[in-house]
Amino acid sequence: MKYVSTRGQAPALNFEEVLLTGLAVDGGLYVPESLPQFSSADLAAMAGLSYPELALRIISPFVAESIPEADLATIIDDCYAEFRHEAVAPLVQLGANEWVLELFHGPTLAFKDFALQLLGRLLDYILERQHRKVVIMGATSGDTGSAAIEGCKRCKNIDIFILHPHGRVSDVQRRQMTTVVGDNIHNIAVEGNFDDCQAMVKASFNDRSFLPEDRHLVAVNSINWARIMAQIVYYFYAAVAVGSPHRKVSFSVPTGNFGDIFAGYLAQKMGLPVEKLIIATNANDVLHRIMQNAVYHRGQLQHTLSPSMDISVSSNFERLLFDLYQRDGAAIAELMDTFQHGDITFSSEAMATARELFSSQSVDDATTCALVKHVYDTSEYLLDPHSAIGVSAARDLCAGSATPVITLATAHPAKFPAAVAEAGLSVKPALPQHLSDLFEREERFAVTPNDLSAVQAHMIAHIKV
Ligand SMILES: *Cc1c(COP(=O)(O)O)cnc(C)c1O
Repeated sequence: MKYVSTRGQAPALNFEEVLLTGLAVDGGLYVPESLPQFSSADLAAMAGLSYPELALRIISPFVAESIPEADLATIIDDCYAEFRHEAVAPLVQLGANEWVLELFHGPTLAFKDFALQLLGRLLDYILERQHRKVVIMGATSGDTGSAAIEGCKRCKNIDIFILHPHGRVSDVQRRQMTTVVGDNIHNIAVEGNFDDCQAMVKASFNDRSFLPEDRHLVAVNSINWARIMAQIVYYFYAAVAVGSPHRKVSFSVPTGNFGDIFAGYLAQKMGLPVEKLIIATNANDVLHRIMQNAVYHRGQLQHTLSPSMDISVSSNFERLLFDLYQRDGAAIAELMDTFQHGDITFSSEAMATARELFSSQSVDDATTCALVKHVYDTSEYLLDPHSAIGVSAARDLCAGSATPVITLATAHPAKFPAAVAEAGLSVKPALPQHLSDLFEREERFAVTPNDLSAVQAHMIAHIKV
């Protein structure tokens, strides 16, 4: 399988190459040239498969020329064995026709583990074969950093450096990064804010000359294709569990960068009978506004109770746009170029196509809290604030529908205890057993000044593998 850039000017790559690439050289994002198709009979045959068995069927066609199937099976088995639930992604029923897909049983209690556990292993496998070593660099304000570190902790060919703003991430989130043991894991607390951290990562990718020549720099943010690929699997898994292909399903997805929900879109294109995909956003509603009035307008960033969805632009939306504009790379390049300087308005044809499948809803903090409380009062089920946004949007947009709706529960409520308290609940969500001693574990991180050369000097001095 080949991968092409959404802006049409970069070379097509194979899976191995795309795995090691972030942005395409033309500034676009990589997408598969074509998608594998699953018939109704294929879907029917998925009933009863374990998560790793199903993952192998879905992922195989995307990586076939780069990784032999037996090796892929070993990688996938190893990866999902890290999850603390037999079903890996269990479904919980909330109402007659309403379900929650729990994606928080991985090592860091957020859905990002599904992709980053796999990404680390795939990278290490390819690097081992190519006798290469790389440096991963990323900035985090929350979930991505810990999931990336957990995903890379056993990798023999990767040093991972994660920058976070010193004193500005929650205790749970910081400890999930800084207590992971491994010589190749490097946490840097920058005396600045998240934007400063991100700017340093960006500058380092733009000029990689600070690294030794034999070290490639790799990105693990959600523009990496392998992350999207891994996320397609659970849409199939959940839909088959509630009756696909005999029954259609809808999904409600708490959305920030449009990565997770884009995987749902691909699942539908690959043959899964999806009726509706709901884009559920918090007050940072850039995507909801696009759906409402076709205008892409950079919003003012707002801090909400669902911080992992606090964004002002949605980088993966470009991948959908590419399809909405008949895969015309030149048109996408022009649109995104215009967006550098101001708003863009999408064509009515593009929006009509998008609205056939997608609906959207923006949910504010007060509504989120009310929903967390209502669901707990009626079902004794505790939602985290991100997942609650999904359930709230599903209830608004799917009321009375005969099609089952599945909300993706993207984080464990114990990760966001403040939101539970804000909802007026006295219950204290406990960390699962495997993290219950998190606050006793030893932390390791270096504090650096808010200065690019200081951070880069620290990196050079600490490369281990
Ligand atoms: C990252 C994240 C999201 C948003 O995912 P996108 O792929 O950016 O849409 C939602 N919820 C949680 C808990 C997250 O960590």
